[in-house]
Amino acid sequence: MTIAIVGGGLAGATVATELRERGHEGPVTIYAAEPHLPYERPPLSKGVLLGNDEPDSVFVHDLDWYREHDVVVRRGTRVTAIDPARHVLGTADGEEPYEKLVLATGSSPRRMRLADECGKPVVYLRTIEDSRRLREALSSSPSVAIVGGGWIGLEVAAAARSMGCAVAVFEMAEQPLHAVLGPEIGKAFADLHRGHGVDLRLGAAVTAADLAAADLVVVGIGAVPSVELAADAGLAVDNGVLVDATLRTSSPDVFAIGDIANHDHPVLGHRVRVEHWDNAIEQGKTVAHNLLGDDSPYERQPYFFTDQYDLGMEYVGHVGPAGYDEVTIEGDLAGAFRAYWQRDGVVVAAMHANDWDASDAIRASIGTSFAKGAAG
Ligand SMILES: Cc1cc2nc3c(=O)[nH]c(=O)nc-3n(C[C@H](O)[C@H](O)[C@H](O)COP(=O)(O)OP(=O)(O)OC[C@H]3O[C@@H](n4cnc5c(N)ncnc54)[C@H](O)[C@@H]3O)c2cc1C
Repeated sequence: MTIAIVGGGLAGATVATELRERGHEGPVTIYAAEPHLPYERPPLSKGVLLGNDEPDSVFVHDLDWYREHDVVVRRGTRVTAIDPARHVLGTADGEEPYEKLVLATGSSPRRMRLADECGKPVVYLRTIEDSRRLREALSSSPSVAIVGGGWIGLEVAAAARSMGCAVAVFEMAEQPLHAVLGPEIGKAFADLHRGHGVDLRLGAAVTAADLAAADLVVVGIGAVPSVELAADAGLAVDNGVLVDATLRTSSPDVFAIGDIANHDHPVLGHRVRVEHWDNAIEQGKTVAHNLLGDDSPYERQPYFFTDQYDLGMEYVGHVGPAGYDEVTIEGDLAGAFRAYWQRDGVVVAAMHANDWDASDAIRASIGTSFAKGAAG
């Protein structure tokens, strides 16, 4: 069976890895628009940006691995069309057949016109090149304006402070990370950054004058799923590529995973599109099994992590559209703590900060009735 993987990111590389580990011997080709082998993005705003990690540490495998496992990576090759009815895909080199296809095209940074037109150097952070450019720019920019107090904005703020830049972060919500963590934990992140000297401006839109006052502008206002290929092929698309519980698109021999997959989650009971590292890996594994004949639903709870200054955190679960009615915090919000978001007395999401013994326990708490200290 010839398997085509469109997108050479973490999700795509995981599919190829798992196919070979499961003993699949047929042709596997990864079509990668970027000139690189598949790589992981989280270090680009953390260790690599700070200069603590070697740039080469981001690659999922080295070239020898792909050769030894007979996985073809077509670097610098963008897929321009797929035709699910004829089972062919198109590149600049012409048409190529496939039997099963996995879409793993990821996402790209949401652009901001005000920033693009502000007259200052502007950086968006997604690729190895962006990270390199940002590191160089930070080392020569006394002051940085960061638009967006989400994960990437805050991680860049932490890196910029440690490189000695004056940093202002502009976030429209009342607290950073408000949409995911709510006001209580969002405030803990606000305090963390203010404690490290960040000028955090909340609850107001950034202006051209704010940006003009900085030497460098970094925009981190979210990402847009890359769905053009799927949409042009007539696949069902709505905030990502619509997939069923088993990650299959509206066309039976085409699957979609990672940042682009808008997944009908059987445990959460609603659709969810997750832009996280763990989701790219775990959906990649599930889809490899389903390509080889399983029909397994993807049931894992969303998970993500961040590192900022000396704070490391993990978060499991999903509050979702129904929201939460209570959050219980155990520990010290300025140090190590655990938090449990509950709806109708049931934990729907949980996190820890600086409490690495809690990783398994917070995961196990999801779906249980909350009892104080339950994650002990
Ligand atoms: C700076 C940064 C820091 C992050 N930090 C964290 C973190 O701390 N924790 C966490 O959980 N998550 C983090 N993430 C999110 C995580 O990296 C993503 O969720 C993950 O990369 C998604 O993997 P993917 O394979 O779906 O997509 P991607 O990594 O975006 O890979 C998709 C690839 O497909 C290619 N492509 C697109 N269209 C085509 C085409 N038509 N033909 C061929 N190739 C194509 C793209 O060029 C890209 O290389 C971070 C992301 C960034 C950018």
